[in-house]
Amino acid sequence: MDLFEETKDWAAILRPLIAKYKGKEHPLHYKNIYQLLVMVVLAAQDSDANINKVTVDFFIKYPDMEALSKANTAELTEALAKVRFHSNKIAWLQEIAETVKEDKNIPGTMKELVALKGVGRKSANVILREAGADAEGILVDLHVLRVAPRLGISKGKNADKVEKDLMAALPKNMWGEIGMALSFLGRETCRPTNPKHSECIVSVHCEYCHLHKN
Ligand code: SF4
Repeated sequence: MDLFEETKDWAAILRPLIAKYKGKEHPLHYKNIYQLLVMVVLAAQDSDANINKVTVDFFIKYPDMEALSKANTAELTEALAKVRFHSNKIAWLQEIAETVKEDKNIPGTMKELVALKGVGRKSANVILREAGADAEGILVDLHVLRVAPRLGISKGKNADKVEKDLMAALPKNMWGEIGMALSFLGRETCRPTNPKHSECIVSVHCEYCHLHKN
């Protein structure tokens, strides 16, 4: 039987990726969960590099949720002018600050996190992982959305479907780490164009690589 027609043990195949990337610093350079929450809201449709740059001064001025809740729109617009779609994001941050009020009230569950403005499942999965909370899903960012279908673990074309397929294929004890590991694989190796198959530690099991090797 063709290797690619068999049901695969994705947990065994992907565990080496977790080992490779475990402990690697998150691309957003946050120092606490307040900062991460702000940064994931700001990073939507912008680059992590830009958000890392812009938030250096921002967090000096607004070091916690309390300080953020006291900021007015004009001040925030000045501080975040270089962030894409900053007007919407400022409104979301103000609503979050009004709801949460203090850093200690930042939610620790998927249900509460996605109830916050500007926070979807992707951001909530990131926050839960970085907070050391139990995983309730698997992070699917643009990189995972590309890598998972290439590997053959999902046929999904959107993040919800890919996340569901990953959750169905992998045991819960891998959920917290595998999203970021696949994301790092996508950032470093499985690039949108010219993926570096020869450097990829899961290439033997990869459907895309199998189909395109000749
Ligand atoms: S083998 Fe190639 S296509 Fe498959 S995951 Fe690795 S880099 Fe991506």
